[in-house]
Amino acid sequence: MQAYDSTNIFAKILRKEIPATVIHETACSLAFHDAFPKAPLHALVIPKGAYTDLHDFCKNASDTEITDFWHAVDHVITDLNLVESGCRLISNSGANGGQEVPHFHVHICGGTKLGPMLVK
Ligand code: 5GP
Repeated sequence: MQAYDSTNIFAKILRKEIPATVIHETACSLAFHDAFPKAPLHALVIPKGAYTDLHDFCKNASDTEITDFWHAVDHVITDLNLVESGCRLISNSGANGGQEVPHFHVHICGGTKLGPMLVK
């Protein structure tokens, strides 16, 4: 597993070195709008702790952080009115997954009928 790189853009958002449009904040998690949305609604949810990807998060985060995180995801889905219409959660991991920012995050995309899950 790669070491956590504290210069990544989400670490800078957590340190308030760069701005973000925050949707929801809890003790352990932060949700904000993606700066380059791929859907009419495109939010990102991140833990405040320094975890590179889902594996790192599940292996090393406390149960409190993990519970807080998934409740934050559900809060954002509810807040953005995506419960009824539906949405897609994506978490890219590592090189093959196409992860650009090496701080664990979940994308929440919705607001339209999304296309096929993957385009070959
Ligand atoms: P990944 O490819 O790592 O799963 O997704 C990273 C996401 O971060 C991309 O959807 C990208 O648009 C978003 N992103 C990159 N830079 C910034 C930024 O400075 N602010 C915000 N809010 N999102 C960003």
